[in-house]
Amino acid sequence: AAKESGGDTFRFYSSEMNARAVSRMDMEANLRRALEQEEFFIEYQPQIDLITNKVAGVEALLRWQHPQLGVIPPTQFIGLAEETNLILPLGEWVMRRVFEQCVMWKQEGYLPFRVGINVSGRQFVQPDFVDMVCRLLDETGAAPELLEFEITESVVMKDVDAAVLTLEALKKLGINMAIDDFGTGYSSLSCLKHLPLNRLKIDKSFISDLQDNADDRAIVEATIAMAKRLELGVTAEGVETEGQYGFVQKRECDEVQGFYFSRPLSPSEVADAWLIKR
Ligand code: C2E
Ligand code: MG
Ligand code: MG
Ligand code: MG
Repeated sequence: AAKESGGDTFRFYSSEMNARAVSRMDMEANLRRALEQEEFFIEYQPQIDLITNKVAGVEALLRWQHPQLGVIPPTQFIGLAEETNLILPLGEWVMRRVFEQCVMWKQEGYLPFRVGINVSGRQFVQPDFVDMVCRLLDETGAAPELLEFEITESVVMKDVDAAVLTLEALKKLGINMAIDDFGTGYSSLSCLKHLPLNRLKIDKSFISDLQDNADDRAIVEATIAMAKRLELGVTAEGVETEGQYGFVQKRECDEVQGFYFSRPLSPSEVADAWLIKR
């Protein structure tokens, strides 16, 4: 497992190597090279419909296959990619790759399912973000109504008026929108009500402690109820146990995503294990 240390140093631990520190500048140069060499790949984690128990969608999750350090999780490099604006070309690479994968699954004859993509705030606020999405849809032929962009509350709240315009434009394209990590940011509920959203994804930090923490139980229960009243889809993220699954299912949560059902998988693994051919 890789662990981020404080200050200017990123420290990676991998099975083949002993502890090794990589300076921030090294990391930045590393990231640039990785983009050029396309050292990234994408895994897909199923999202299960709690009524049918079938896959309703998958979430695309980025990984970095570092030649020496092994697979580096996104929590270890997205922050730096954002600070250095490398998230812009990287985010575009992810989007193109995922759109192409959607088209391939369709060509292989799988029944339609949603595909979630994480969009960084840096990307979302680019003046040409919607144009870029449009262009990629055109170039790849991906179906926008099967796509769901995930953004966090803070991205919306930073500039609500601008966010509304972007959200409206994406909605016009047919793309679905989800709030990721819901409950960890500060969003005004009265504001959320007016946004063109499709889904709230309850942050996994509220799910992990459900068993022992009455506050978390109250928060999860209330969030599910609120989402339903606002006619939003609601996904519980990070469901690992039967107990957590049972709790959200009883509260009529729509979907769950978590290790209880599946870890993130390669495109062919997710297809073999979860997708259904017509
Ligand atoms: P996220 O969007 O909230 O994604 C869910 C994270 O929870 C994923 O971590 C997933 O592997 C993990 N997870 C799912 N089920 C479980 C579970 O049952 N237990 C536990 N402990 N974890 C679970 P991952 O893949 O490490 O991604 C971390 C974050 O990195 C993502 O959180 C997202 O914010 C960011 N990220 C991933 N891919 C991209 C990307 O393409 N672009 C951007 N901008 N951010 C990305
Ligand atoms: Mg997400
Ligand atoms: Mg999340
Ligand atoms: Mg997150």
